[in-house]
Amino acid sequence: MPHKELPNKSEIVIIGGGIVGVTLAHELAKRGEEVVVLEKRFIGSGSTFRCGTGIRQQFNDEANVQVMKRSVELWKKYSEEYGFSFEQTGYLFLLYDDEEVEEFKKNIAIQNRFGVPTRLITPEEAKEIVPLLDISEVVAASWNPTDGKADPFHSTTAFALHAEEMGAKLYEYTEVKEIIIENGEIKGVKTNRGVVNTGIVVNATNAWAKLINAMAKVPIHIPIEPYKHQAIITQPIKGGTVKPMVISFKYGHAYLTQTNHGGIVGGVGYEVGPTYDLNPSYQFMKEVSYYLTKIIPALRELLILRTWAGYYAKTPDSNPAIGRINEIDEYYIAAGFSGHGFMMAPAVAEMLSDLITRGKSKLPIEWYDPYRFERGELRNKALQMG
Ligand SMILES: Cc1cc2nc3c(=O)[nH]c(=O)nc-3n(C[C@H](O)[C@H](O)[C@H](O)COP(=O)(O)OP(=O)(O)OC[C@H]3O[C@@H](n4cnc5c(N)ncnc54)[C@H](O)[C@@H]3O)c2cc1C
Repeated sequence: MPHKELPNKSEIVIIGGGIVGVTLAHELAKRGEEVVVLEKRFIGSGSTFRCGTGIRQQFNDEANVQVMKRSVELWKKYSEEYGFSFEQTGYLFLLYDDEEVEEFKKNIAIQNRFGVPTRLITPEEAKEIVPLLDISEVVAASWNPTDGKADPFHSTTAFALHAEEMGAKLYEYTEVKEIIIENGEIKGVKTNRGVVNTGIVVNATNAWAKLINAMAKVPIHIPIEPYKHQAIITQPIKGGTVKPMVISFKYGHAYLTQTNHGGIVGGVGYEVGPTYDLNPSYQFMKEVSYYLTKIIPALRELLILRTWAGYYAKTPDSNPAIGRINEIDEYYIAAGFSGHGFMMAPAVAEMLSDLITRGKSKLPIEWYDPYRFERGELRNKALQMG
């Protein structure tokens, strides 16, 4: 991919080749649009290949539940068509007191209203699902068996290859340096490898979104800041030991699950930022070792093979900014996904393609309105862990 000659024009240019840029290119190409993706390093090299694999519909507001329900349908459809790994092994939120249970009951009611089959289960039922759990302090759990996980490497690559098959063009090691705008109209983008003339730009750079917004002189404030989040993977163990994603807010906002290679992947809420520094920290290693073994004590026996860091691109309400910037003809943004951009991407691609090609979407895209910050209309903070 890196050596292909850059085209001098394209109807649509997507800046950023993470899961969001790639699934968007895939959807637009499917609809017959001419689309180019420009990625400054390699596909997935931003947050996407550093994510924890989780895909859930257990959110605390109607919009995210509906969008994630659609996203899961798309994850299922494309994993079957393209053969990448997506498993509906569930999300299990461990709850430790009445207050947490009451909050999750409200979330479950919203989820059930939209057909997501989450239910409250007993600690003993949770232990049947993950026998190694320490349930001594657990009073209940929120369980949805239709949540799941996907392999970020296989899935992103599959979307990229199929996007190319349908005519999208993806360029790696191609960094956007400038956005050319004349009289409020986009004319093209300047890269380290030349200019691509275009009338439509999508900013899908997530943690770098504010830099691209500055290049386009976006006239509204869209607060997206990069925060360093770390994760670990352990040595592999017998497959099927920890099938669902297990979450504990009490113990460090932690998450953990087993990957399809057998290792336990996990993380906690410890974060540093705003920063573009990605050096791993010892503090994280101490916290992740402590909290993960509070959830499953037997993890003490395992070696941690590797740790890495990536960005949560955070907004004040933990919801992304997705939409059109009206003052620039035509500039769109889909960025600021915190800890849930991987899971959302297929539905985001559908919503944004609807907006670009038809001017509206059936999915509740207005929830992610990039103007809400400027208007002081923040949403409820989206449920997130890690
Ligand atoms: C430790 C960790 C665990 C996570 N766990 C989960 C999880 O379990 N589930 C989940 O849904 N999400 C999770 N996330 C969040 C998830 O990784 C992100 O929300 C998601 O990958 C965002 O995808 P993206 O395409 O928007 O961004 P990215 O993957 O970051 O892609 C943006 C791309 O833009 C490129 N770029 C930037 N500037 C330019 C430029 N000037 N020119 C060209 N290209 C440029 C970058 O190189 C990058 O590749 C996790 C994140 C971390 C760090």
